[in-house]
Amino acid sequence: MEIVTLDGYKPMHSGEEYLGVIRAAKASNPTPFQSGYRVKTGAMTASGKIVSGGNYEYGLTRANHGEQSVLVGAQNQYPGDLVTIMGFSADEFSGRVPRHCGNCRDNIIAAAHPDMETIAGTLEKVLVLPFKQTYTREDEDFERTYALNADELEMTSKLSDYVNLTSNPYSTQEDAGERVYAAGIAFGGSEWIHGLFLPDVAYWAANPIQAATIKWQGAVRDKRDQNIETLVVVLGPKASVPYVDRQHFMEFLDLYAKTNNVPVLLARQKPVGEPGWDYFKTTSQEWLPYPFTPSVLMNDQELAAEREIRQKQLGIFYTPDPDPNLQEQ
Ligand SMILES: [Zn+2]
Repeated sequence: MEIVTLDGYKPMHSGEEYLGVIRAAKASNPTPFQSGYRVKTGAMTASGKIVSGGNYEYGLTRANHGEQSVLVGAQNQYPGDLVTIMGFSADEFSGRVPRHCGNCRDNIIAAAHPDMETIAGTLEKVLVLPFKQTYTREDEDFERTYALNADELEMTSKLSDYVNLTSNPYSTQEDAGERVYAAGIAFGGSEWIHGLFLPDVAYWAANPIQAATIKWQGAVRDKRDQNIETLVVVLGPKASVPYVDRQHFMEFLDLYAKTNNVPVLLARQKPVGEPGWDYFKTTSQEWLPYPFTPSVLMNDQELAAEREIRQKQLGIFYTPDPDPNLQEQ
């Protein structure tokens, strides 16, 4: 088995182990009756147990993703034995970095070994990547800032009120209230719209950025200027923006914005009793490396057609510029 890596990464496992994972992935039985997108996944746990999975679709374009399937399988069959290799089998080796969606990144962070590797390829050749370094970015990776403009100060102050009023009745965590956040999308020169955490009993919460993007769609019709400028997120002291919600934003930009790389300001409240804030500056691209978005799944023509439909629905006036960032990295 030939092993390929990026940036001089040293793989942590043997060719035999990677082969076992790709074999398990090949043996999976996905049911993508809507997307036709067969995600064949396999995994190995720390003690060497092998699990097979795939994507299983249901409802109106909902799915249990391939990565979720193998994680759940491993947790059920081998409790406490964490997944250390997550693999995708392909018909041909492409060498491209596989795209875990935001939801799967959240699943992996919650359930897999912290040093998990992501692999993709065939029985002859695999690409091996360290999951954490490749797919995750947190506060400490971003630039700290204290230079907020008047609009950003107003947004953070208002959003902070919302965070303090947000509850999470479906979590038994003692600090559940400190793990929530609120988001604001600034657009059109002087306007902004907020999104709040909307938990539900089925555990399929609408996250704040997603909520803001939906409100934005309701609000912009017939406005002169709908250009999306900044995302501001106010985080409780223990909040981290789930990757699924970062993906909601990237997906929103892919379909409605002039560019999918806009500034993101993260404002973190200090714990109760400590005054002040920590501010971090990032961008929609930086905080979600290798995103899984429409521009990855669709070709240029399909994406252009989808953008046209979405923008007609909202009466958007501008013709978005062709954006080189929308192309596959
Ligand atoms: Zn996924």
